[in-house]
Amino acid sequence: MLDLRSDTVTLPDDDMREAAAEADVGDDVYSEDPTVNELEARAAEIIGKDDALFVPSGTMGNQIAAKVHTSPGYEVLVERESHIYKWELGGLAQHSQLQVRTIDGGDRGVLTPEAIRENAIEESDHEAGTGLVCVENTHNAKGGVVVSPEEMDAAANAAHDIGVPLHVDGARIFNAAAAADVPASRLVKEADSVMFCLSKGLGAPVGSMLAGSEEFIDAAHQVRKLMGGGMRQAGMVAAPGLLALENRSRLAADHENAKRLAAGLRDHGLTVKEPETNIVLVETGEQSTDEFLSACEEQGVLGVPFADGVVRFCTHWNVSTEDVETVIDAVGQTR
Ligand SMILES: *Cc1c(COP(=O)(O)O)cnc(C)c1O
Repeated sequence: MLDLRSDTVTLPDDDMREAAAEADVGDDVYSEDPTVNELEARAAEIIGKDDALFVPSGTMGNQIAAKVHTSPGYEVLVERESHIYKWELGGLAQHSQLQVRTIDGGDRGVLTPEAIRENAIEESDHEAGTGLVCVENTHNAKGGVVVSPEEMDAAANAAHDIGVPLHVDGARIFNAAAAADVPASRLVKEADSVMFCLSKGLGAPVGSMLAGSEEFIDAAHQVRKLMGGGMRQAGMVAAPGLLALENRSRLAADHENAKRLAAGLRDHGLTVKEPETNIVLVETGEQSTDEFLSACEEQGVLGVPFADGVVRFCTHWNVSTEDVETVIDAVGQTR
């Protein structure tokens, strides 16, 4: 079975398993796990922030960031299809007593400075003031769209102009960086915090990083404990994360494979959005997404339903260029 449902299905390689087995460990709740400390230092360096925190999931990283940046009763400005709003169980309300104001970011899901300014609310006796702006890069629901360095700076500056911080949901920030041909640190230069996943295209079995100023990470450390994310001998999972961080340069290969897949599926008459990174969105036309995906599964290919009449295939490090040809032929068999 060729599993293209997500880049989270990647399996750790032998080096990662060996690194996990041999990791130096300690109690990370006391900040005494040398491998976690090394991962946090390396992650902060790569992403260009003062400090970083290892968290069990991207969702927890985003939710910690929102809680640290705000007080209850404020509003968060997010894109209408953003993960932090749509796919985290209303966590902004559940964990941090925030209300959300969504902005339609159009085809590419980008929050423009105009939209941020137009939707900003000044706190009063009647209105919840804006407390935080979040942007997602790459934008998952829009098909792995890359938000450019200029667009990122503009969003951060607009947030700062209205007096609030900017958090970046950078689950796939290294995909964005590879596609834009800039270091990821450039994309988040003006941002106050950023979360990125080790467990997606970088291939680690578990974990995400939250990065920001020292003060922000100190506060985040406490909120991580509150949310039940304090881990003990976490060096066992941090060690593969350290190797994953050095996998950044191989993401471009996933993007090439995604382009190849899109072109091949178009040759079979399908309508496919041109991928900017590793996410390929395919329209299922006359078929329902379930019919389309069952037919693919019978041919040995897995994808996921993504929207009405749209399915998603993700390329990742367990999908080779040869596998992509196999997928194209297999989907072709269903036409
Ligand atoms: C996957 C993802 C997350 C959450 O990460 P988990 O580790 O699955 O909790 C957050 N934001 C975006 C854009 C994602 O794609």
